[in-house]
Amino acid sequence: MEHDQPLVRDVFPDLIAEVATLLQEEGESELAVSVRDVRLVGECGCGDDFCQSIWTEDHPPGQPFGVGHRCVPLLPSKGTLVLDVVDNRIMYIEIVDRPPMRRRSVER
Ligand SMILES: [Zn+2]
Repeated sequence: MEHDQPLVRDVFPDLIAEVATLLQEEGESELAVSVRDVRLVGECGCGDDFCQSIWTEDHPPGQPFGVGHRCVPLLPSKGTLVLDVVDNRIMYIEIVDRPPMRRRSVER
């Protein structure tokens, strides 16, 4: 497995800290651990101003997630955060109506 994609926690440390805390509050302690190791595979790409969603696994665009998929909605103080999880792998983090995320540049 190639690991040339940066960890999301290196690029958006504030986001991952917040998501991990919220997952813990939802009782999703397993996901709260695994979210620290998800990689920034790509941005949502829908082009909407209010959307900063990111892909954390490769997935063909427009395809359903299929069997084993569940949504994990979180309760952030601002906007909407929803994880798409397939078999306990975090595929996608929906980030909508949120303040602009501070991106930290990553040494490659
Ligand atoms: Zn989008």
